[in-house]
This record gives sequence, C-alpha cells and structure tokens, in this order.
Amino acid sequence: MGENMTETQVVVIGGGITGTAIARELSKYKIDVSLLEREEGCGFGVTKACQGLLHGGIAHLTSRTVKYHGDVPLKDHLLRPFGLKENMQNLGREEYFSLAYVLGEEIAQPGRLVLAENREDMELVELIKQVAENLDIRGISLLDRKGVEELEPDVHPKYIGGLFDSNEAVLLPMSWAMAFAENAEQNGAHIYKDTEVKDIEEKKEYYVVKANNGSFKAQHVVNAAGLYADEIARMVGVADFEVSGWKAQMLVMENRDAIHHILCATPRPQGGRLLIPTTHESIIVAHTFDPMTHKEDRSTNEEGIARLMSWPQEFIPSISKKNVISSFAGFLTFNTRDPNDHLLEAPKRGFINAVVSAPGMGPAPAIAREVVRMLADQGLELVTRSDFNPFRNKTRRFIELPEWERSEKLRAEPGYGHLVCRCMKVSEQEVREAVRAGAKTLDEVKFRTLAGFGRCQGGFCTSRVIKIISEELGISPLEVTKKGGNSHILVAETKRCLEPGIGRLTDADARG
Ligand SMILES: Cc1cc2nc3c(=O)[nH]c(=O)nc-3n(C[C@H](O)[C@H](O)[C@H](O)COP(=O)(O)OP(=O)(O)OC[C@H]3O[C@@H](n4cnc5c(N)ncnc54)[C@H](O)[C@@H]3O)c2cc1C
Repeated sequence: MGENMTETQVVVIGGGITGTAIARELSKYKIDVSLLEREEGCGFGVTKACQGLLHGGIAHLTSRTVKYHGDVPLKDHLLRPFGLKENMQNLGREEYFSLAYVLGEEIAQPGRLVLAENREDMELVELIKQVAENLDIRGISLLDRKGVEELEPDVHPKYIGGLFDSNEAVLLPMSWAMAFAENAEQNGAHIYKDTEVKDIEEKKEYYVVKANNGSFKAQHVVNAAGLYADEIARMVGVADFEVSGWKAQMLVMENRDAIHHILCATPRPQGGRLLIPTTHESIIVAHTFDPMTHKEDRSTNEEGIARLMSWPQEFIPSISKKNVISSFAGFLTFNTRDPNDHLLEAPKRGFINAVVSAPGMGPAPAIAREVVRMLADQGLELVTRSDFNPFRNKTRRFIELPEWERSEKLRAEPGYGHLVCRCMKVSEQEVREAVRAGAKTLDEVKFRTLAGFGRCQGGFCTSRVIKIISEELGISPLEVTKKGGNSHILVAETKRCLEPGIGRLTDADARG
C-alpha cells in the first residue's frame, strides 16, 4: 500500500447538506467513514446559496402549478400521487424538526401566505385548498382581505385574499451542513476538508479514491458532489447524465418587522416570487431564474438586482429599498437523466450516486437514511453503535440565554462580555468557541455564530473576527481567508502598504 493511502470503509464525496447528512447517519454505526470535501469548510457548494425552505403542506402543489403545462385538467395534475422527490421532502422535513434540538440548530415555522389579486387567483387558491384536503394536508386556511391583513397588516391593497399554510418552515442550510459534519466527526467520522477528488480507480473488491492530498481505499463510495456529481460519476464510467441547473440571484434585506410569514403571489406557470423571513431577522427576496452558463459563475448582475429590487414593494409597499444589505447567487440543480427527480442509485457495485435535484436541502435527512439502506443492500454491515451521541457540542447563542445563565457564563468567562458583532450581538467568546469547534474561515464563523449577518455585513466585526481566528489558530491575520483558497482579506500590514508591489500601489504610485 502506498504511503499516503488511507484505508476506510465508506468514502463520501462532497460535504454539502447531502454528504454531511449521510456521514452523520453512517456515524450511528460501527463503520469507518471518510467524508472528502474540496473546500475549506462544509456547505460551501450549492448549499450555501440555498434559501432554506422546508417545504411541507401546499408547497408541492404550488410548485406543481408553476410547472403546469395544460396537458390534463389542473386539478388532475395536482392530484397526481407524490413521487420520490416530494415524499423525501416530507420525510426529511419531519426529521429536521427532531434534529434541531439535538444539533443546537434553529428552525422557524412562519407559514406561507399565498396572496390572491383577483377572482381568478381566488379560484386557483380555492382549488389548491380542495386538493390539499383530498391529500389530507392539514393547517391550511382560506382568507379574505381582512384575514390577510391580520397576518400581514402592511400587505399591498391590491390583494383581495389568499391561502395560508401553517406548515412551511425555514432554516439556515449551511449552518445545518456544518452541524451534521461536526456531529458526525464527534461520533468518529473523519472529515477531510481541502480534499478534492481527482480520480477513482475501480478494483475488483474496492475503490481507490485519489485526491489532491492522498488516496483512500474503500469498499464503498457515495457520490454526493452536488454540481460536480456528473464528473465524479464519470470517473467510474457512469457517463449517462450531467448536472445542470438554473442560476438564481437573490437579495437579502433587513426585516425590521416588515413581514412575519413567507409571502408569495398566487402561483402561475413559470412564475414564483418569494419573500422569506429568515431565522436571523432578515428577508430573502427570491429569486431570478436564468439558465446556468458556467458552474462557477455565482456573480449577480445589474439587471437581476433591478428585477429583485422591485418585488418586495409589490407585497409590502412600505418596505424601504434601503433595507437591502446584500445580494448573492446560486444554482438550482437537476440531473439531465431525470430532471424532475433525485438520482439515488447504485450504478456499480459499492458505488452510490446521491445526486439531488432542487429543492434538495429539505430531503437531506431522508436521503441519508435511504443511502445507508442502499449501502446495506450492497453488503455494508450495519452494527449500531451504543455510544452514538446525537447531541452536538454547541450551546445556544449567548444573547438568547436567560439572564441568570448569561450572568453565570459571564462570571466564568469575561469574553462573553466583549461584543464582536454589534448587529447580531455576537460575543468574542462565541467566536473563539466556533474556531475551537473547527471553523477556520470568516464564512464558517459567520454561519456558525451569525457574526457578519447583520446590517453592516461585517463592516464592524470582520477585523475583530480575523484577529480572533489568527490568535486561536496561531497564524498571521494575513493568512485568514473568507472561504479558503485565495480569498484572503488582508494584503499586508498597514506599514508595508507604502512599499511598491504591496496592496494596490504600483511602483509609480510609491515613487510619486
Ligand atoms: C437559490 C436556491 C434556493 C434553494 N431553495 C431551496 C429550498 O428552499 N429548499 C430546499 O430543500 N432546497 C433548496 N435549494 C436546493 C438545495 O440548496 C440543494 O438541492 C442542496 O443544497 C444540494 O446539496 P448537495 O449537498 O447535494 O450539493 P452541494 O451543496 O453542492 O454539495 C456538494 C459538495 O461537493 C463538493 N465537491 C464537488 N466536487 C468535489 C470533488 N471533486 N471532491 C471533493 N468535494 C467535491 C462541493 O465543494 C460541495 O461542497 C435551493 C438552491 C438554491 C441555489
């Protein structure tokens, strides 16, 4: 065996929400698991841009309405039995609720308010309610204008009523991916970051997964590489699908009590605009929908931002555009073999494709269970670990603790009294704890503690967080990155900025 060869039983490729949920599920058993993630942290792929809706209730029906092409009467189209994708969403959703407590993660359940502008819209939402009742979906109510105003007092006067679904929930997906990975690691899984799979060699009884920093010998390989799952599949000769997608641009606004529920207009074919109140006091304005031209192009553009800027006031006229604090883009992916469903299959002995199509965050815990079942079918012995600890080592945010607990913690550790992020009220000690739990980059600290999520978007806390990361890791502040690789924040010490070739100064600048 080569020097740099690690022996393991299962290699999971990809540390997004799918791969980390699978690694955690596998860590319940006496199995040696190695998760390989090419980025410096987990959740930095498609998962990072996910708007975070845990679809339940009528979401499947509104989504079916948007995709309706008039082939059969709409009611029949809506009444079609749920497929793998919808069933997995429903199962996954339930599981997130039970996992929130043990993993120390948040879920909010604001519900979805579908707004109707005219009689035609009202008829459509009435139809959706009828179908929901036929499908035994509870918690749905039809509202007139007064009912809508009770839920959202500042809603636009053009809406005459709507449909409220109390089931829809929201969470912060990247934070959950980090939680799954941390809990898996606590239970013995090996999480290899900065580890990019370059090739896979198929042997008679096992695979050799070759990465940039070493090789892994394993009987089983799970391909959860998201956007790049097609490339990983090709490494073992499975070349009958590609991962494609739609580019979605989104805005982030401060909420300031402007909305209290997920708001959307009555679904229309090929439509869909959403205002989503997040778990951390902001609103996501979602989303534009354009073909993906390049897998790494996550840029936003003027035209997309202009379109998005006009939407919030269509729902709530009093929302100020000044509340916009950020914009970002991501990809709604699908596989070209079956664009409407996930690809969960074992195309080769011991090799599993866990390639999800959007929306694929919600089903992750259910997909994880299914993948483990498929691995067992492939001969992996599942012996339950009696020492599995479902609880993750993460305490609640300091600011949310009751006063007596805050005082007690403050007495023991004065770092809780030093505010690092003023917008989200995050203390120095919480940032230190995040780094001690494995966060090495600004983004990982951000998604673990919320430092940098607020109005000033890191204007106040970035330098402070950099300093803490550098102290905790014993590295220079110049080495601290936003998200790994070359995403350094600082170019040189202030004094050196006057030297030629440092920062933005040219030789001519320095001479002049
Ligand atoms: C705008 C938007 C809104 C969305 N809204 C929702 C929603 O409301 N609800 C919902 O359920 N879903 C939603 N989704 C979809 C959801 O985000 C994705 O389906 C899900 O996050 C996919 O997770 P994943 O782990 O499969 O992929 P990823 O998160 O992309 O993870 C794959 C990982 O593999 C790594 N990787 C790739 N190649 C290699 C390699 N060679 N070696 C090692 N590692 C590799 C990547 O770095 C990445 O971290 C949304 C997506 C977007 C973009």
